Amino acid sequence: MRPIYKRVILKLSGEALAGENGFGIDQSVIDSIAEQVKAIVNLGVEVAVVVGGGNFWRGRSSEGMDRTTADYMGMLATVINSLALQDALENIGVLTRVQTAIEMRQIAEPYIRRRAVRHLEKGRVVIFAAGTGNPYFSTDTTASLRAAEIEAEVILLAKKVDGVYDSDPAINPNAKRFNELTYIDVLNRGLKVMDSTATSLCMDNKIPIIVFSLKNPENIKRVILGEKIGTYVKE
Ligand code: UDP
Repeated sequence: MRPIYKRVILKLSGEALAGENGFGIDQSVIDSIAEQVKAIVNLGVEVAVVVGGGNFWRGRSSEGMDRTTADYMGMLATVINSLALQDALENIGVLTRVQTAIEMRQIAEPYIRRRAVRHLEKGRVVIFAAGTGNPYFSTDTTASLRAAEIEAEVILLAKKVDGVYDSDPAINPNAKRFNELTYIDVLNRGLKVMDSTATSLCMDNKIPIIVFSLKNPENIKRVILGEKIGTYVKE
């Protein structure tokens, strides 16, 4: 079986790295994600990863603190996660580069689009850290922006739940999962796929989003091979 995509962005929420703890990094979880990434790299897919930071810090929920300061702290949290993922990938022999949207040259390369593309062409996994570098944005928006910039064909939005539902499946046992949705549906119905800034950016640039769960360790590979799992968001 051949991959149906050549270049993808994988968006991992911070939560996805925390496992059952809900906070920090669960080494076994991050190791399993690294194995999945390795599997698709071995299929010849160029993989860029955007990592969230919610397992450590979220700017928008830090009441009482200056929002921009809180957001910078959130961006730093994504750097911690990115370094952990880099370590897990390099442990199993996957070549990686971390690029940060805020310069911290002793730790990682600064984000330079052309350089990122070159790394991808050479088969390295590029991890985009520190979000967009701007407060008031999210790592979902980062995934959309970087996908447009590097001309990724799709955003793989790995979540805890296995797709997009019409209501919260954790609360409503009759919640219905969508197989397909349009960007406009997501925006009009206020569905919690990505925030609206990120969704609009995907809509304007026609970047499809596939929402699926990381629970089954084979899922990233299944999506890459064209199996219809989760929810597909497109025009
Ligand atoms: N953040 C930001 N600008 C960006 C990306 C992230 O200010 O371009 C901050 C923001 O405070 C956010 C935090 O970093 O809450 C962590 O990112 P996010 O909430 O997207 O992580 P996730 O929910 O995916 O774990």
